[in-house]
Amino acid sequence: MAPGTVPRSSKLHSRVVIIGSGPAGHTAAIYLARANLSPVLFEGFLANGFAAGGQLTTTTDVENFPGFPTGIMGPELMDKFREQSVRFGTQVITETVAKIDLSARPFRYWREMQEGPEEAETADAVIIATGASARRLGLPGEHKYWQSGISACAVCDGAVPIFRNKPLAVIGGGDSAAEEATYLTKYGSHVYVLVRKGELRASKIMAKRLLNNPKVTVLWNTVATECVGDGDLLNSLRIKNLQTGEETSLPVNGLFYAIGHEPATDLVRGQLQTDPDGYIVTVPGTTQTSVRGVFAAGDVQDKRYRQAITSAGTGCMAALEAERLLAEEEELGTEVA
Ligand SMILES: Cc1cc2nc3c(=O)[nH]c(=O)nc-3n(C[C@H](O)[C@H](O)[C@H](O)COP(=O)(O)OP(=O)(O)OC[C@H]3O[C@@H](n4cnc5c(N)ncnc54)[C@H](O)[C@@H]3O)c2cc1C
Repeated sequence: MAPGTVPRSSKLHSRVVIIGSGPAGHTAAIYLARANLSPVLFEGFLANGFAAGGQLTTTTDVENFPGFPTGIMGPELMDKFREQSVRFGTQVITETVAKIDLSARPFRYWREMQEGPEEAETADAVIIATGASARRLGLPGEHKYWQSGISACAVCDGAVPIFRNKPLAVIGGGDSAAEEATYLTKYGSHVYVLVRKGELRASKIMAKRLLNNPKVTVLWNTVATECVGDGDLLNSLRIKNLQTGEETSLPVNGLFYAIGHEPATDLVRGQLQTDPDGYIVTVPGTTQTSVRGVFAAGDVQDKRYRQAITSAGTGCMAALEAERLLAEEEELGTEVA
């Protein structure tokens, strides 16, 4: 059993339970453990399709996380996060939280395969750090070239050598697509934006910036139908004009999806306020959710930045806010009820 892991049969009550094991969850754990709050962190068992450690376990070099001047592999970075959580006393449980009841405190939650009321475990405060996942199209060849020419994060991957001075494509017509495509013009020789409709959904200012960029060509009414490569790396897309039905090949060495993310909020749907895209709503400048004692950190509440460092930052905020709330309640004698 990995260090810090708690056996399945133990039934827990904790001051704070953290659900999720990406940069947000582990940063929260490090702060809470150092504050002697003995946090329990559920790292998930392939929860939401990710290994424990989260999205960074699916990538290779991470070059923009401060403290690693020569870069670090994503899985190694997450191992270090975990090691640091455990070092200060976090109990890490390699299971998925399947159900939670946020209607009363202490909050009750259930692991997978547990359902009955007697099986509920409890916590005075909860930090939701379940992350998000990029939407994909499921095109032929997509799986093969994912992270070998296909990405869902221009800021993360745009600067890598395989994209430098090469033609690139972005799929999407909203603000994210406009932002990602504009950003990629710093690196690529040219950026094609594939837009399914005859217009952009992006805000006027973003659309204008995109359309005025001489390194960008928007392909209207166009979809990708296949990702093609030369064995190891993507080198072109099959594309189709939806108006004419014409299919052609577009030589590109990079494809960036900008068709949105799915925040992992099934667990709390209907219990916490979420926005129309499903992201948990927090009080601006804080990680407080619509339920007192429940905090949200990382990509599950952030549709704008979606970076490891911003996730870690909000994980820190959630820990400090949870700690403060519990201390205040203890002082005022308004013990969790
Ligand atoms: C391919 C790729 C490359 C990237 N590269 C970079 C980069 O270079 N630099 C950068 O800053 N960012 C990068 N990112 C973005 C970065 O990974 C995310 O912003 C960050 O990981 C979000 O952290 P998080 O803590 O919100 O959660 P996540 O990393 O999304 O992790 C959440 C974890 O919680 C678990 N979980 C979910 N539900 C439950 C549950 N019910 N019970 C228990 N566990 C649960 C999941 O299994 C997952 O392991 C990249 C993302 C991807 C996909």
